[in-house]
Amino acid sequence: MTQRSWAEPYRIKVVEPIKMTTRPMREKAIKDAGYNTFLLKSDDVYIDLLTDSGTNAMSDRQWAGMMMGDEAYAGSKNFYYLESNIRKYYGMPYFVPTHQGRAAEHIISKILIRPGDIVAGNMYFTTTRLHQELAGATFRDVIIDEAHDPDDPHPFKGDIDLAKLAALIKEVGAKKIAYVFMAGPVNMAGGQPFSMKNLKAVRDLCKKHGIRLWFDATRACENAYFIKAREKGYAAKSIAAILKEMCDCFEGLWVSAKKDLMVNIGGILATRDKKVFEQARALVVVYEGMHTYGGLAGRDMEAMAIGIEEMVDYDTIRARVGQVEYCGRLLQKYGVPIVTPIGGHAVFLNARKFFPHIAQEQFPAQTLAAEIYVESGVRSMERGIVSAGRDPQTGKNNFPNLELVRLTFPRRVYTQAHIDVMAESIAAVYDNRKKVKGLKMVFEPKMLRFFQARFKKAA
Ligand SMILES: *Cc1c(COP(=O)(O)O)cnc(C)c1O
Repeated sequence: MTQRSWAEPYRIKVVEPIKMTTRPMREKAIKDAGYNTFLLKSDDVYIDLLTDSGTNAMSDRQWAGMMMGDEAYAGSKNFYYLESNIRKYYGMPYFVPTHQGRAAEHIISKILIRPGDIVAGNMYFTTTRLHQELAGATFRDVIIDEAHDPDDPHPFKGDIDLAKLAALIKEVGAKKIAYVFMAGPVNMAGGQPFSMKNLKAVRDLCKKHGIRLWFDATRACENAYFIKAREKGYAAKSIAAILKEMCDCFEGLWVSAKKDLMVNIGGILATRDKKVFEQARALVVVYEGMHTYGGLAGRDMEAMAIGIEEMVDYDTIRARVGQVEYCGRLLQKYGVPIVTPIGGHAVFLNARKFFPHIAQEQFPAQTLAAEIYVESGVRSMERGIVSAGRDPQTGKNNFPNLELVRLTFPRRVYTQAHIDVMAESIAAVYDNRKKVKGLKMVFEPKMLRFFQARFKKAA
C-alpha cells in the first residue's frame, strides 16, 4: 500500500452539540420554511453547508485575540494591527474596515460608478452586482465560455475572455467602463480560480485603456492555492507570495472577511489609490462608522488581523480545499453529477442533470436543496434561476446556464465522517430522483430574492 492520506493541521478543543432530527420533523420544517433552505431554523439543521460565510471555527489564537479588543471609539490599537497586516499581506497602503463584504461593495460602487456606466467582471456575484446596479451601472459578464459549462475541465474557469473584454471596450468605449473586476475563485461558476497569466493579461489590457482594475479578494487564498497547484512556475512559491503577486495587479480590493479570514463578521476595502481612499473614508462614516472601526468592534478587527496570518498558512489552505475535494470525489463515486473541476470552497451539484425531468421554471436546484434537507438534515443552497433574479431593465427572469446546488464548507468545522454521512444521503436522493417534483414560487422579494422567496410543491 502506497496510499498516504492527509489530515487536518489542527485538533478539536471545544465542541458544539448538534440536534438530530427525524424525517417527519424535517418535512414540516422545510414546508414551514417555504422550501427555502435560507428560511430554516439553524437549530433544525444537522450538517450546515449553506455557506462558508461567517460560519468558520476561529483558532485559539483568534479567540484569545477577542479578549484583547480595544473598544475605543477612535484609534483602536486593533485597527492599526489589522492595517499593518493588510499592508503586509495584500500590499494595499490604504484601508477602511466595513461590517462585511457588501458594505465595502456599496461604498466602492458609490465612488467609482456614474449612472449609465458599465462594470465588467468574471461572472456576477449576487451582492456585488446588486450594488453596482444600485449605483447605476450595468454589469457585463466577460468570463470565458468554459465557465458556463459545468463539465468543462478547464483548470482556470475563472479567467476573463480577453477578446470579450476587448470587444466590450470597443463597443462602449473605455470611458464608459467604471472598472473591471476579478473575483477568485468565482463563486457562481462553481468556485473556479483565475490564473496569474490571465490576470496579468487583463491588467495590461486595462492599463492600455486607462481602465481601473479591482479585486473581489474574498477567497483570494483559495485562488492562490490553485495557482500554486496548477499553474506552471508557481509550485515553489508560498501562498503569501502568490497572494501578494495577485494583489499587485489591482488598484484596490474588497473582501468579505467572513470567508478567507475565518472570522464570524468583517469586511475590508483597501486600495493603493489615495483619492479613492479619501472618498471611502468619507463614506464609511456615513454608512458604517468611524474609519478606524467601520461597523466592527475592536475585538473583531483583532480576530481579522490574526485570521490574515492564518489564512496564508499552506497546510491550513490545503486542508480546506482538500476537504472539499474529498467530498467531490466521493459524490462522483456515487455517480452524482457535480461541476468539475471541483471548486475551492464548495462542491456544486448539477441540478439540471440530477433532475432532467424538472423544467428550469420549476426550480430544479431549489427543489434539490429542499430534498437533501428532508433526506438527512443537510442544508445546502440554490445557485440557479432563483439566485440569478430578474433583468432590471426588462423585468424578465434571467435563465442561467448553471442550475446548481452548493454544498459549502465552513472552515475547520466538520470532519470527514460528516462528509461521508452527507455524501451517502445525497446518493440516496439521487437513487430516488425520478419521483421528485418541482416547485412553484409563491412569494418573490424584489431584490436578492433567493434569501426570502417562498415556494410550494408543484402539482
Ligand atoms: C460573501 C461574498 C461577498 C459579500 O460579502 P458579505 O460579507 O456576505 O456581505 C462578496 N463577494 C463574494 C465573492 C462573496 O463570496
